[in-house]
Amino acid sequence: MINFSREDLKRLCYSSTFEKGKEYYKQNRISNFFIEDIEDDYSNPCERISANVTGSNGNIYNCMAVLFKEHRNKLRLSSCFCNCDAFAKYEGLCKHSVALLLKYIDLYNENKKTKKV
Ligand SMILES: [Zn+2]
Repeated sequence: MINFSREDLKRLCYSSTFEKGKEYYKQNRISNFFIEDIEDDYSNPCERISANVTGSNGNIYNCMAVLFKEHRNKLRLSSCFCNCDAFAKYEGLCKHSVALLLKYIDLYNENKKTKKV
C-alpha cells in the first residue's frame, strides 16, 4: 500500500497553482500517462510518473515526477521536472506537475477501492 495524499501535494505548491492544476486535471489535459518502478542512485525503490500535459496556449509539456518510498510505503516527492517556463522561473511545482500528481493520487485511490471489494 502506498500513501501520498492531496494534502501532501498542496504543501508542495502555491494554492493558486494547486487550483489551476486541479482544473487541468478535470479538463483531461493529461496524455501518455505512465508509471514505472525505478531505483534511485542509492537503490531505493521509487515510482516515476510521467505524462504530457497540454497547457493553456496549446503547447504540450513533458512532465515527470519521482516519488520516493519511505517506510510504511509513505511516498515523498523526490524530484519533479516540467519543461514549461513557470517551472524554470518559480520555486515549487507548476500546474502541470500538480495535474500529473492529482491523476496519480486518484488512480491510486481507485486501485485501493477495487482491492477492497
Ligand atoms: Zn509545467
